[in-house]
Amino acid sequence: MEERDEQEDHFEGEVIDEELDPERDARRRLALAQIRQYPDAALRMEARQIEEFDDDLRSLVERMKLLMVDAAGIGLAATQVGVLRRVFVFQLEEDEVVAVANPRILERSDETDVADEGCLSIQGITVPVERSLEVTIVGQDENGNDVRYELEDYAARCVQHEADHLDGVLMIDRTTPEARREALGILRPRIVLT
Ligand SMILES: [Zn+2]
Repeated sequence: MEERDEQEDHFEGEVIDEELDPERDARRRLALAQIRQYPDAALRMEARQIEEFDDDLRSLVERMKLLMVDAAGIGLAATQVGVLRRVFVFQLEEDEVVAVANPRILERSDETDVADEGCLSIQGITVPVERSLEVTIVGQDENGNDVRYELEDYAARCVQHEADHLDGVLMIDRTTPEARREALGILRPRIVLT
């Protein structure tokens, strides 16, 4: 039986803040190495609508699901693996990861919440982002079937974060000017080193 810490895992945007054992941490690092990192140009591009629901798309979705889980994420957009197609995956339930192609936020609550977000493409940084508490998102799954999800709390936050990725919008664009300045201050020296 696995023992769980008293402290619950925290969901930060598309990242789970949790303690990992060394083997799990090694898998996470391998996965992160395959995910585009800021300031990669693909992260700033707008993804194209998906028209063909073929094996190509299904294998992309399968790969993204595996990467997301290995990277300890709860969401991952195609632009983050350098593919400019409008599809993302996210954790719907504890053991269920689903894909949404051509996502559209149909409804969003006026009620919002500000919470710290992390991003698999901007490691080691969290910034406060204001998001709607509840959203209804529609689109298609990887087989072209219509899907509709009514989400709240961290899942609602996650799909808003992922939908942004498909438009080339990042969490640092959505935060306060102060937090943005601070985040860029941390990110800039890293860019010089790469
Ligand atoms: Zn992200």
